[in-house]
Amino acid sequence: MKIAFIGLGNMGAPMARNLIKAGHDLNLYDLNQQVLAELAAVGGRITESPRHAAQGVELVITMLPAAAHVRSVYLGEEGVLAGISAGVPAVDCSTIDPQTIRDVATVAGKQGVTLGDAPVSGGTGGAQAGTLTFMVGASAEHFATLRPILAQMGKNIVHCGGIGTGQIAKICNNLLLGISMIGVAEAMALGNSLGIDTHVLAGVINSSTGRCWSSEIYNPWPGIVDTAPASRGYTGGFGADLMLKDLGLATEAAKVAHQPVILGAIAQQLYQAMSLRGDGGKDFSAVIEAYLNK
Ligand code: NAD
Repeated sequence: MKIAFIGLGNMGAPMARNLIKAGHDLNLYDLNQQVLAELAAVGGRITESPRHAAQGVELVITMLPAAAHVRSVYLGEEGVLAGISAGVPAVDCSTIDPQTIRDVATVAGKQGVTLGDAPVSGGTGGAQAGTLTFMVGASAEHFATLRPILAQMGKNIVHCGGIGTGQIAKICNNLLLGISMIGVAEAMALGNSLGIDTHVLAGVINSSTGRCWSSEIYNPWPGIVDTAPASRGYTGGFGADLMLKDLGLATEAAKVAHQPVILGAIAQQLYQAMSLRGDGGKDFSAVIEAYLNK
């Protein structure tokens, strides 16, 4: 299939590589010339703008940092909608607010282009291994079109409902993750200062009612889980600044919906403080440092 792939950063580049490996013909666009050159070396075609990338393709995929980039890449003068043919499907995999994708999809719809949202979880490791989870907001028909392609970049393709619901699922999940990590950090730090062996404590939590992904797979206490970022100096995981971005999306969406997110707001402030200290690049589980006497 001829596909335009726009936004080739930490996530987009390995996703595009997997599509090239699967035999697709890719039009590539990014502001970063180096990444374009690297992907051209494995078979992609470099283009000059989103408009140029979208010309003559059968599908457009975007993977951009934030809402402003999504708006400009689709709606700008040299944007996707200036080049794409009516009837060609598109999907945005960036993590942004649900309203932006709904707005852009409405404009796209007016020229016969169906746009869906499919934010991901699984991180850069999942993007490389092709094991991402896609949370898809699209009509049933659009989902059926997107599914086989997304399945070449991920292993879990979930239809969440209409446009925007993929983003809703993603921000609600990350709201909970950001909060649960702080809960585990608080419990581990308290147990340690009260004098229990942290391995024993983690074992009890993980076979009791406090168990969750943050305690079992990604425990913030160093040495509990060998593969967790805590065991390698909080490097190479999900950066605190990215968690801060997702909590910002959740609290903003909550404001629009008049819905309280009390723990989410506190969590956001703790990651904000990490960012201010210069620790925004550390894995988010380093939030435990707020509880340690260092
Ligand atoms: P990134 O910053 O590494 O990559 C974004 C890419 O978009 C860059 O290469 C940048 O040059 C390009 N770009 C920016 N503006 C552009 C424009 N106008 N036109 C074309 N290209 C443009 O970000 P990432 O880590 O790949 O994340 C992408 C999205 O996925 C974000 O929304 C992020 O929140 C989400 N996400 C990231 C992770 C992760 O672990 N990195 C996990 C899940 C979801």
